Amino acid sequence: MFLCTLASGSSGNCAVVSNGETHLLVDAGISARRIQAGLTRLNLRREQLAGVLITHEHTDHISGLSVFLKKNEIPVYASKETAQALLCLLPMLRERIHTFRLGTSFAVDGLEVTPFPTWHDTPGSVGYRITNGKARIAVATDLGCVTRQVADAIEGVDLLLLEANYDRDMLRSGSYPAFLKRRIESDYGHLSNEDAGRAAAWAMQNGTKTILLGHLSKENNQAQRALETVGGACAGGIGTVRLEVAPRSEPGLIYFAGESNVEYTDFMCGQTERDVLYTGG
Ligand SMILES: [Zn+2]
Ligand SMILES: [Zn+2]
Repeated sequence: MFLCTLASGSSGNCAVVSNGETHLLVDAGISARRIQAGLTRLNLRREQLAGVLITHEHTDHISGLSVFLKKNEIPVYASKETAQALLCLLPMLRERIHTFRLGTSFAVDGLEVTPFPTWHDTPGSVGYRITNGKARIAVATDLGCVTRQVADAIEGVDLLLLEANYDRDMLRSGSYPAFLKRRIESDYGHLSNEDAGRAAAWAMQNGTKTILLGHLSKENNQAQRALETVGGACAGGIGTVRLEVAPRSEPGLIYFAGESNVEYTDFMCGQTERDVLYTGG
């Protein structure tokens, strides 16, 4: 399996998760043109997508959705609460939206998807654990805090896209208004680098080989700070875990989870060898 972020940050989130045959988009929070460009870079056409998984309806996760879905019939998956919110914003989704129960797995072609609840300030917000039966990938952003359910969902994944939204000092001394600072720091906001460090250490102790930090705030974080804080928390595992930061506004590397497969070279179009990283056994 592989994961490639097309963008990851407070101003837009979108990722491709694939087993090489079934391709899923997780969120569509950048323009349709940028999503298309990211797919082309992966040698994928949008018609090949088996579905779009939505974590929640905040703009940075859905801004490109309606334009991207025009002139195709790609299904959309969301929790019941998120689906209701989406239908108010985008009634055109009515025919294609599929809802799920939190914690209950469902299959999309060759992939099994398990949505898990996240404490974020919108009802029905989720993260996703996705497996092909051999490798496991989790997308865990907009977490607010790391609950037992989040810890269970990321336990044992090969590859984890983990929120590291803000550096506490930068947020507190920054220019955001007090109410917004409180919202971000609350258990229903975003995950700090310190919180991400604890979650990363937990994942690492449970076998995660690659941790990709994502959803960094432009104002309140820096890649180097996130890496230092989370890396410090994972210090005991240096050498066994690959820790990187997903670029905020451009496509990232292709991260593989589980056994590599020569057919994956199909998805390396236009990329150098260092763009492709392997993880897991
Ligand atoms: Zn959000
Ligand atoms: Zn977000």
